[in-house]
Amino acid sequence: MKYERRVIAPEEIRRQERICGEILDMVTADGARPLAMVDTYGCQQNEADSEKLRGYLAAMGYGFTQDEFEADVVVVNTCAVREHAEMRVLGNVGALNHSKKARPSQIVAVCGCMVQQEHMAEKIKKSYPVVDLVFGPHELWRFPELLQRVMQRHKRVFAAEKNEGAVAEGIPVRRDGKVKAWLSIMYGCNNFCTYCVVPYVRGRERSREPEAVLAEARELVRQGYKDITLLGQNVNSYGRDLGGGVDFADLLRMVNDIPGDFLIRFMTSHPKDATEKLFRTMAECEKCAHHLHLPVQSGSDRVLKAMNRSYTREKYLAQAALARQYMPDLVLTTDIIVGFPGETEEEFAETLSLCEQVCFDAMFTFIYSKRVGTPAASMPDPYTRADKQRHFDALTELSNRISGEKHREYEGKTLRVLVDGETGREPCNLSSRTNGGRLVHLQGDPALIGSFVDVKITASNTWALYGELV
Ligand code: SAH
Ligand code: SF4
Repeated sequence: MKYERRVIAPEEIRRQERICGEILDMVTADGARPLAMVDTYGCQQNEADSEKLRGYLAAMGYGFTQDEFEADVVVVNTCAVREHAEMRVLGNVGALNHSKKARPSQIVAVCGCMVQQEHMAEKIKKSYPVVDLVFGPHELWRFPELLQRVMQRHKRVFAAEKNEGAVAEGIPVRRDGKVKAWLSIMYGCNNFCTYCVVPYVRGRERSREPEAVLAEARELVRQGYKDITLLGQNVNSYGRDLGGGVDFADLLRMVNDIPGDFLIRFMTSHPKDATEKLFRTMAECEKCAHHLHLPVQSGSDRVLKAMNRSYTREKYLAQAALARQYMPDLVLTTDIIVGFPGETEEEFAETLSLCEQVCFDAMFTFIYSKRVGTPAASMPDPYTRADKQRHFDALTELSNRISGEKHREYEGKTLRVLVDGETGREPCNLSSRTNGGRLVHLQGDPALIGSFVDVKITASNTWALYGELV
């Protein structure tokens, strides 16, 4: 299947900006200060998309609120990875009936991965009349035009056609924080893991040009951001579609060469494409955090094959060992799916043993969720929900035990951390992150937010470390 990398013309984005200006004139005509609410579900890519939605909304003159009863526009940016997220979205969208009743002019938009699935777009059309606008991830760049259509025609608008996606540069971004920033380097996924809906809703893999990524990274550093996370579904295949000879490790090095005191993180890495060159580059680049999120999904070769993950348990173990050889202080985290169709007791036990062997610093564990249209959805699945829950609980227990042990090893050590926010609690009023991304609570002046400081770790538990400024 040949895919043509599609780029949205800069004039198109300028046209969207002009529409933002028209909307601004309209909604602020009587001196009003309209408000918008953007509610985000799912992964970091969605967080990054919501920052673009806010960028556009700010250009339209909207301020922001978290209260749907105050909002003139509500945008719900949805996730489709698991059923649980979809149920939450539907519940919350249904509940917007109340705010809309109180404020009949309220416009409700639902976007993101969930509505890129035909059956979900249909469901919203039929059963959620409160929704005025539906658009998939591929239409985000033209959100102003779609919103204006709703405003002018007073009719519902649906824009979530099947699409392979494009690259759009120049969309305004309004970031949430001042310390940490998401930076998308690529979109979509070509891997078609058999359980996963992402390739169907996010389209084909497409990379941003290195120059565009670097320009954005330089701007973030100039604005004082200290922690930049490069985002992609599989960053290790960055650049393949560009054919310019720049791979992900090269890109990391280029970002590392930007002058300034900041940290570079990235996610996610697919084990099938993580290379020695990547580990060496991480070890050599002084700004690159020694954190690798390398989702293993399962410890059983039979299940990995059925998942279409394209690596074996042995290959994964070798990679983890190699990465640690380059970075002895590496923080290694992973994702695991429990209860993939047909996963047996023995196969689950192989996942447990792999986790024991690798000793992950943190594990994100999920019970398999059947996704419409994916190959795994039609695989025989004789195991009950109770079996899966039992496995999930066992894995959680193991994960907590290992994290607790790993955290205890930090006690007594002095580390450089980045203070990133307030906890709202005493006495440890500040939160910070180690180079490897572990959470450290400490006491200090909120003016330290955004600074790197040295802390001595004094205590720990499963979820966090506690430290004192030195
Ligand atoms: N591109 C990333 C992951 C995106 S989804 C990667 O490949 O690592 C994030 C995680 O959700 C996955 O790693 C997987 O563990 C989990 N996940 C994806 N589809 C799922 C499903 N159908 N049921 C349960 N968990 C799933
Ligand atoms: Fe989904 Fe696999 Fe792509 Fe990750 S790599 S987004 S799990 S299909």
